[in-house]
Amino acid sequence: MFVKTDSIKPFEKKLWLSSPTMHGPELEYVKEAYETNWMSTVGKNIDEVERLCAQYIGRKYAVGLSCGTAALHMCMKLAGERLYGQSQIGHGSLEGHRVFCSDMTFDATVNPVVYEGGIPVYIDTEYDTWNMDPVALEKAFEVYPEVKLIVIAHLYGTPGKIDEIRAIAKKHNALIVEDAAESFGATYKNKQTGSFGDYSAISFNGNKIITGSAGGCFLTDSLEDANKVRKWSTQARENAPWYQHEELGFNYRMSNVIAGVIRGQLPYLDEHIAQKREIYQRYKEGFKGLPIKMNPFGADKANPNFWLSCLIIDKEAMCKQVRDDSTALYTKEKGKTCPTEILEAIASINAEGRPIWKPMHSQPIYRMNPFITSTGNGRAKTNAYIAGEATDVGMDIFSRGLCLPSDNKMTPDKQDMIIEIVSMCFF
Ligand SMILES: *Cc1c(COP(=O)(O)O)cnc(C)c1O
Repeated sequence: MFVKTDSIKPFEKKLWLSSPTMHGPELEYVKEAYETNWMSTVGKNIDEVERLCAQYIGRKYAVGLSCGTAALHMCMKLAGERLYGQSQIGHGSLEGHRVFCSDMTFDATVNPVVYEGGIPVYIDTEYDTWNMDPVALEKAFEVYPEVKLIVIAHLYGTPGKIDEIRAIAKKHNALIVEDAAESFGATYKNKQTGSFGDYSAISFNGNKIITGSAGGCFLTDSLEDANKVRKWSTQARENAPWYQHEELGFNYRMSNVIAGVIRGQLPYLDEHIAQKREIYQRYKEGFKGLPIKMNPFGADKANPNFWLSCLIIDKEAMCKQVRDDSTALYTKEKGKTCPTEILEAIASINAEGRPIWKPMHSQPIYRMNPFITSTGNGRAKTNAYIAGEATDVGMDIFSRGLCLPSDNKMTPDKQDMIIEIVSMCFF
C-alpha cells in the first residue's frame, strides 16, 4: 500500500478527474425553458443545440438525444438496416453479424452493437494514439472477410488513425460508426472528429469536456437518416391522427431543459480545450526526468481536445502488479511503481485518478468474443504471449497507464502537488 507522507496535505475540497464547469448562460436558457413552459422534448434549446453542433463539427444534421449511448444505438440500427435490411420485430438489425470494434474503450461504445444483436469482434490498440490499430483491423478482415461494419472511438479526446482506418473500410466496403463522445472539439487534419463516420455520435455526459448533465447528438449528412433517428427516438410514430406504429420506437429524445445547459456551454468548448491543453503540457513538463510518458497523439495530424491527461510508466520502471476481476496488488520496489500505487497516492491527497479503460476483450461479459491483434488471433495464442511472440497492446497500456486528475478548474499549485506525489512513487 502507498505510505502517505505528511509533506503534502490532502486537498480540503476533492480534486476531481473531470467535473462540470458552468459559466452562467446555461441557467438563462434553462430559465427561459421554464418560464415559457417548454419543459419537454421539443423547444428552441434543442433546435439551437442541433444547429450549433452540426455547424461546429461540419455535418449537415445533428439530432439531440438523451445521451451518447442512445446516439450510438441509433448509429448501429441505421448501419444494420442499411447493410442487412429492416429487421423483424424482436430481432436486432445486426442480428448474428460480426462487427469490428475498438477494444480499449468505455463499454458504451460497443454495447449498442449488442442491443442490435451484433457480435463485437475486438480489434487491438496501437501505441501511437491509443486507438484502434489499423494493422490489427486489416488482420481481422483476413479472418472475417464478410464483416461490413467498423466501430471506432477516439479515446480521451485523441483522434485515432483515421486515414488508415477509412482506407481499410473503403477497400472492404465497410461502414464506419464513429464514437466521438470523448473527443468533441478535437480535430484530425483540421477536420472535427464526429465528421468521419458514416454515422457519428457525441456525448454531453457530466464528465465530458462540455456537458448538459446528460445528453448526446447523432450526426450525419443524410436528411433521410436524420429523420429516421428523429422518428425512432420519439417512439416511432407514423404520420396519422392517432398513435400509429409500423416500427419499433425508443424514448431517446433530448430534453429541452438539458439542451438549455448544453446551449449555454457550447461557446465555452474552445476555452475548456485550451485549459485542458495547458494541464497536459504542465504534466508533461513536470514529469520530465521520470520514467513515464504522457498519452501520445500523433501531433502532425491531430489536435486532441485533451479531455483527460494520462500517463504510462516505462516497462523498466514497473514494479510487480497483479489485478484480478476486482482487486489489485503490487510489490513495492525501489525506483519502481505501478498504476495501482500512483492511484492510491493520488487518492491519499483527496484527488481522483482512474485506471485506463479496461479492454473489452478482457471483460467477463465479452470473454467469448473474438479478439484480433496485429499478430493474429489474440484469443488462441495465450502461450504465444508468454513466449513473447504475440502482443496485446490494450492490456499492456491498461497495466502500465492511468488517467490523471484533469479538471479544468485545477489550479497550477494543485497540479504541482499531483506531480509531486506521482514523483514520490518512484522513490
Ligand atoms: C461517455 C462515453 C459514451 C457514452 O456517452 P453517454 O452520454 O454517457 O451515454 C460513449 N463512448 C465513450 C467512449 C464515452 O466516453
